Amino acid sequence: MRQSQLFTKTSKTISQEEVSVNAQLLLRGGFIDKLFAGVYTMLPLGFRVLTKIETIIREEMNRVGGQEVLMPALNPKENWVVTGRWDTFDVLFKLTGSGDKEYALGASHEEVVTPLVQKFVFSYKDLPQAVYQMQTKFRNEARAKSGILRGREFRMKDLYSFHHNQQNLDEYYERMIEAYFRVYTRCGIREKTYLTFASGGTFSKYSHEYQTITEAGEDSIYICDTCNIAFNSEIIEDVNHACNQCQNKELREAKAIEVGNIFKLGTKYSAPFGFSYSDENNNQQPVIMGCYGIGSSRVMGTVVEIHHDEKGILWPEEIAPYSLHLVSLCQEPDHIQQAEVLYEQLVAKGIDVLFDDRPDVRAGEKFADSDLLGIPTRVVVSAKTLAQQSVEIKKRSSEDSDFKSIISFLAEV
Ligand code: ATP
Ligand code: MG
Repeated sequence: MRQSQLFTKTSKTISQEEVSVNAQLLLRGGFIDKLFAGVYTMLPLGFRVLTKIETIIREEMNRVGGQEVLMPALNPKENWVVTGRWDTFDVLFKLTGSGDKEYALGASHEEVVTPLVQKFVFSYKDLPQAVYQMQTKFRNEARAKSGILRGREFRMKDLYSFHHNQQNLDEYYERMIEAYFRVYTRCGIREKTYLTFASGGTFSKYSHEYQTITEAGEDSIYICDTCNIAFNSEIIEDVNHACNQCQNKELREAKAIEVGNIFKLGTKYSAPFGFSYSDENNNQQPVIMGCYGIGSSRVMGTVVEIHHDEKGILWPEEIAPYSLHLVSLCQEPDHIQQAEVLYEQLVAKGIDVLFDDRPDVRAGEKFADSDLLGIPTRVVVSAKTLAQQSVEIKKRSSEDSDFKSIISFLAEV
């Protein structure tokens, strides 16, 4: 992509109303645009990051047998009445259509997925199943001050699993714990992310949240450094302020943001929809469910919260909008031509490259933009480097740069 063609531009001004680091840097870099509080457009650079995060999630969900669907965001009121959540889901957006018919905007999709899978699953032979989607969710959040960490419209992966008994759910749940960690590893936030015990619900003692340590977080968690797990503030009372694995009382409190959670639902949703299956003896048994969410847009904001410095963002390799930032400081037509050729060669090699080919922008400004955008590797081509048929390579995470001949750079890239 040629930076001269990008319709967005970076900006130096910081919006007064945006207090969060993720919103400030993403807005300044031209990754997102704010429509109103809690609602943002994903601009070309931001959409590339989000897509990469969602591709990672998709790959990991497919690896644990997930089948991807796309359910409607517009839901009929009736389904939410069946589960009782029409009146109890506090942040549900409700609207009225023609003929005074009432609807909800999907805030979560148990009300759609349960009767959906029910249409196809009748016998124990049809189980287990795992169905997921990557979708825009709507929640009428009271506070929307944390940029894309808490949107009123946001992106979520939600997976729902269906089992013939508790043991089968328990086994799947363990596989999902690992699948989630693979997602966070690939997104570059694993080291700060803790599997956190949360109060369960009716069917299991605990559910689990994945909490990433950051000052921008709204939650407090209590970490056991011996077991490398954490407890959320409700459950810390429940376990009497000690780790429930090793009884350690020296727990470390930290601020964190919930980047995902997993839940054993049991029959909470299958029961109201009358979703049962026939077992080996032809007896009807209730279907056992689990649900597993990751806020993909929140993950993007969390990455910015923990990977930035005073100059801008430092994207982890796998989710960076581009892997290389080719910055041309060339002025002479002959040099400009050589930079163009280098860009074309990188594109031909299938490298994700952003090419700062803007003719009338000063070097200092180009470097400041490059630091703000946070692409992992910067490759400068200039009169100085071309005098030696080389480029200057610098990692965003390092102060040092290296000169490399264009030939060996192209061979190794
Ligand atoms: P929170 O306690 O932060 O409000 P939640 O318990 O409501 O989260 P879920 O309903 O389980 O979360 O949603 C699944 C995931 O979706 C969360 O783990 C989080 O990553 C993400 N998420 C939830 N609400 C939002 C939001 N308003 N904006 C962005 N992501 C969200
Ligand atoms: Mg919530």
